[in-house]
Order: sequence, then structure tokens, then C-alpha cells
Amino acid sequence: MGVQDGENAAGAADVEGKHSKSALKKAAKELEKAAKKQAYKAEKGGPEPSEGAAGGRVDEPDISEFRYGELPLNQSQIKETRTVTRVEAVNKSLANKTVLIRARLHTSRAKGKQCFVVLRQGRSTIQMLVAVGPGISKQMLKFVTNVPKESIVDVVGVVQPVPKPIESCTQSEVELSCHEFWVVSLSAPKLPLQIDDATRRVTDDADEDNLNIRVNQDTRLDNRVLDLRTPTNQAIYRIEMGVCKLFRAALEKKSFVEIHTPKIIPAASEGGANVFTVSYFKGSAFLAQSPQLYKQMAIAADFEKVYTIGSVFRAEDSNTHRHLTEFIGLDLEMAFDTHYHEVMDTIGATFTEIFRGLRDHYADEIKTVGKQYPADEFTFLDPPLRLEFPQAVQMLREAGVDQGDEEDMSTPTEKLLGRLVKAKYDTDFYILDKFPLAVRPFYTMPDPNNPKASNSYDMFMRGEEILSGAQRIHDPTLLCERATHHGIDLEKIKGYVDSFRYGCPPHGGGGIGLERVTMLYLGLDNIRKTSMFPRDPKRITP
Ligand code: ATP
Repeated sequence: MGVQDGENAAGAADVEGKHSKSALKKAAKELEKAAKKQAYKAEKGGPEPSEGAAGGRVDEPDISEFRYGELPLNQSQIKETRTVTRVEAVNKSLANKTVLIRARLHTSRAKGKQCFVVLRQGRSTIQMLVAVGPGISKQMLKFVTNVPKESIVDVVGVVQPVPKPIESCTQSEVELSCHEFWVVSLSAPKLPLQIDDATRRVTDDADEDNLNIRVNQDTRLDNRVLDLRTPTNQAIYRIEMGVCKLFRAALEKKSFVEIHTPKIIPAASEGGANVFTVSYFKGSAFLAQSPQLYKQMAIAADFEKVYTIGSVFRAEDSNTHRHLTEFIGLDLEMAFDTHYHEVMDTIGATFTEIFRGLRDHYADEIKTVGKQYPADEFTFLDPPLRLEFPQAVQMLREAGVDQGDEEDMSTPTEKLLGRLVKAKYDTDFYILDKFPLAVRPFYTMPDPNNPKASNSYDMFMRGEEILSGAQRIHDPTLLCERATHHGIDLEKIKGYVDSFRYGCPPHGGGGIGLERVTMLYLGLDNIRKTSMFPRDPKRITP
């Protein structure tokens, strides 16, 4: 099928949903053509013929007739084993070898009798030269030139070392000399955003900013499928996968059991506020604000050490850089022997393993993100730094902040504390233990030595909270007492309290926000950059 002036005629009819007589006729013709091509391929064993020139028929015979064109719609007609090479694997070691590659057409630039194409696959790019000469016709060149950016193509080419490195491509020491060029899936000719614009480095240079086109966050999120194709995003979501993988690996080594907890729950898990109500047959239910109650019930049910990775819902109208209405919680809970610090230290060591694993196994991805969003390397200590709340208050007061002993810290205060800690201890990660009892949930174990304190902790990355945790009250009488103190209707938490009536080991745990960990590890400024399809008070699409 020909591609005329960068527009796919049949595709355009599809997009617009026109079912006019002429559109139907055209579609029938296309089908007939595809069938003929298939028949030809079956008979000759070679690639099917194309229409020839991209911009209409030319009179001279097309010497490249069987080397290019648009493939018929893949409906899995043929099962073939063929060797497809990854772009990242194409280097000098393959010099003069012929390779078959499926990739996106990132850019193409025609210049006289040749066209420079850049092919992109994930974070890898390679240049390909299509030059009129033996085997490559003018018609083929025209066809290639007219294929819209972001189309998926199958190309066959010979790997050629280049005298000067091609700085703009990841495969800088070679290029491909094109032999065949087949379109697998055409992109619309007009893109709502350009991948190169969406990948542009963030700088503080206002002059440079004025010269360059940037893509704003809403345009990115409105066209997320395109935005996610940038090398930066390809890297971010692999790093995020790494966080989960390393979290799992660290806990499995310690004999934790992975569990799955319900997301549809009968009562709000963390009190009445911030909970989404959903209709549930003739009544209503809630979306879980955390797996808190269920992971504790798993401890009461003798699982000893559990973790879960799953969606958490918060109906908070918080339009900030770090709040979502749906995020992924990495939660864990464990029984301990004598002291809740066994739990806190286990979590601290889990973070150390995550940071070490990211540094050692995701260095390429971290570098890719850093090219667009420069950030200082994440620093951490092993074992992690542990401070107590009163020490933090002291540090803040010395820095001139009026922080109360029993008051939760505001976000700016948290950030300032992060800077003070970094300056003093050179770490971007630390644990703050012994939070005031008054600012923690009802199920937090009070400190036996100080009625105003609790056996609870938060953990911070680059000065922002990424975990809240504590020893939980496993005694039903004390639990009811604390719930009453918080004004909670005991009837509403009966099921929760009852799970501790048949004996439960002392235990504690914590909840981590996955998107926050990824954002702060990479030094990014907004949680929407680390949520593939973010949900916030103003956005539930795409
Ligand atoms: P914050 O004070 O920042 O609103 P929180 O005290 O409500 O957080 P917790 O309920 O203790 O947080 O949740 C544990 C962890 O889950 C937090 O440390 C954070 O990493 C993550 N988290 C909490 N709320 C959100 C949210 N709305 N969006 C993204 N992550 C969140």
C-alpha cells in the first residue's frame, strides 16, 4: 500500500469512522491487494510486492519492488522463526552482517538521493542510511521518506562501522545500510507531542529554555502512550520495577510471605476521612486506604512475617507534588521477639538492599533519567542513620525553626530537616524514631517510658516521608482504650479488635509509597512522573 504525502488513505478513513461508499470500496480494494500479496508470498517464498512509489506510480520500472512496502495486517497468518536483532546489540562486532530489526521510525531526513533514518527501540537508537543505488530505487527512497514518525517498521540492513561516532544515537559506532523497509504499523502523521521535545534536558538556563520546545505535564499525561516512549520514561518504569523486585527479594530472603489483601472493604481502615465510597449491590463499601488491618490479621493468623504490594486509595483533595488518590503501597508486617526495633531495623536493612540494588543493577537507567532530569546521586549509610524525634526537634530549633515537641512536622520543616541531616551525616536516607503519640493512629503502641511518645517511626528520602510504621497494639483492651481516646466508634472496628482476642504475637510494620520512593531516589520533582497513569483529584484519565 502506498503512503501519500505522509498520510495513510485507508487509515484516515478508519480513524474518522467514515463508512461512505467510496471508503468501503477503498477498504475492499485494500483487502484484495493484501490477499494478492499473501498469495504471491506463498508462491514465490519471498516478500510480497509493494505498490511501488510512495507518492503514486512512476513510469520507470521499480528495481526495489520487493524490498519495501506496507505489510498486510498481521492476523497471525504465518508462523515463522526468524532472527530478529535488538538495536542495543548492534555494534562493531556485527560489522558487515545483515540484520533484521523491528523498531520505531524515530526520525527521517531526506537529503538528495538519500535519507537518514533513526530507528528507536526502547532506549536504544541507531542510524540507517537509505541511499539510491544498486537495489535501492528512487521509488523506495520516496516511500521511506514519507512514512510518518513513530510508525513501526521491519528493516533489513547491513551493519557498517562509521568513521566518526554518531553522537545522536546510542549505537554510535555503526549505522545500517538499508536493504529492505517494511511498515508493520503506521502512525498517524501528526503527533500531539514530539518524542525529542518530551526528552529534552531540564536546565536552569532561561535562554536555552526560550529556544527549546518543552512539553508540559498535562500534554504529556493527556498523551501518555507517546510520552511513555521517551528513553527517560522507559528507564523510570524499569527502575520502579527494580524497587518492587528488590523489596520482594530482600524480604523473601528473610522468610516473609507475600499476601494479597482485599481492596473492597466494609469499613474505612484508617478512620472515616479520606475514604472512597463505592456502591456495592444494594449497599455501599469502601476502597482500602491501606492493607493495615489485613496484614495485622495475617500476623494474628500465624504468618509471622508478611508483605504485600498493591493499590491503596486515598480520597484526599491534595493537589501536591507528592500525593495521588491511588498509589502502590509496599507494606510489611512482622511478629518480633522482644523489641519493635527488630522490625525497624529489618525495614532499614530492606531499604539499604533496595538502594544498593538500584545503584548496582540499574546504573544505565539511572544515568538515562539523569540526562533529562539532572540530580545528585542518592547517598545512604549502612546501617541507616537513626535519629529520635527529640533530636530532630533540637536540630530544627538550632536552625531557627519553632518545632513543637508533640507536633507533627510540616512538609517544609521535613525538607529542612532532610537538608540538615544531609549536611551533618551525608545521607539522603534516615529513620526518625519515637514520634509523639498524639500524631499517630489509634493502633500505635505507646512508649512505656514516656506517655507522650510512641513506639513509631517514619523514614525519609531526600527529606520527604516515604514510610510510616510502628509497633501495633496487639492487646484488645488497650486497643479499645486508645480507639475510644481517638473518638472511634468501637462497633465500627469490632472485626479488627476481635482478631486480637485469640492471642496475637507482639508485632509491627510499615507502609511505603512506591511512586514516592522512585521519585525521591531519582531526585524528581513530581510524583506524576513516577506513576504510569496517575490518579489525582483532577485526573482519572487516560
Ligand atoms: P503524608 O503525610 O505525606 O500525606 P501519610 O502520613 O498520610 O503521608 P501514610 O498513611 O503513613 O502516609 O502512608 C505511608 C506511606 O504511603 C507514605 O509515607 C507515603 O510514602 C505513601 N503515601 C501516603 N499517602 C500518599 C498519597 N496520597 N500519594 C502517594 N503516596 C502516599
